[in-house]
Amino acid sequence: MSENQAKSNLVKSTVKTCRDGFDRHHHMVTPVAEYSGIGWFLVTFGITTRPSKIKYTCRKCNEVIEESSSKEDLDNNT
Ligand SMILES: [Zn+2]
Repeated sequence: MSENQAKSNLVKSTVKTCRDGFDRHHHMVTPVAEYSGIGWFLVTFGITTRPSKIKYTCRKCNEVIEESSSKEDLDNNT
């Protein structure tokens, strides 16, 4: 195996997938918003708040593929 092939294999294996091989963009994978304590409090009162974390969860095996707290992900899922 050449050095380049070894490298591309390494990159492939770092893509996060669940046991079904689904990544966060798969249609069986749903972003689930997780709120901090105060966030839940506000949501209960109907106040829209930004989640503190997004968990990409597979609907088939319930595995959490990836957790994200990046600004773009939170904005997309508010
Ligand atoms: Zn799965």
